[in-house]
Amino acid sequence: MECIFCNIVNHNAEAEIIFEDDEIIAFLDIQPINYGHTLVVPKKHYDNFLTVPQEELSRVIKTVQYIAGAVKRSVKADGFNVISNNGESAGQTVYHFHFHIIPRFADDFTFKPRFKNYTDEGIKEYADKIRSVLSKYKDIYNG
Ligand code: AMP
Ligand code: ZN
Repeated sequence: MECIFCNIVNHNAEAEIIFEDDEIIAFLDIQPINYGHTLVVPKKHYDNFLTVPQEELSRVIKTVQYIAGAVKRSVKADGFNVISNNGESAGQTVYHFHFHIIPRFADDFTFKPRFKNYTDEGIKEYADKIRSVLSKYKDIYNG
């Protein structure tokens, strides 16, 4: 299946590449939320956050830290968001895993999520559900 990020990795599509090594590439997002908005991408194609092997993900996040510092300094941002959209409902549009580094400025815009409130029982119920699934995947987590 045609993948725009694979094409960028293979230098078959243009991008403003700011970092590249054997495993990882980083380039500017063509539709930035703020100027300097950067994408950090493993060169191998993985659909999303959950399918990236642990070791590779560690190296990607190390690169995200390196690049985020440089992006922040270069555009004199007050802060930045590191995010990964996973699945259509979360806003994913390119199904080749990537992190966004989004420079942020005081008063640039405000996220307005519709926060919900748990009841005391409700919060326990959700925690129990998650703990139960975590225990199933413990061995994978521990390697
Ligand atoms: P997501 O919606 O989290 O999957 O992010 C995909 C991002 O890739 C979007 O912010 C797009 O603007 C960006 N994008 C799509 N095509 C290109 C491209 N050819 N070069 C750079 N960024 C791109
Ligand atoms: Zn790809």
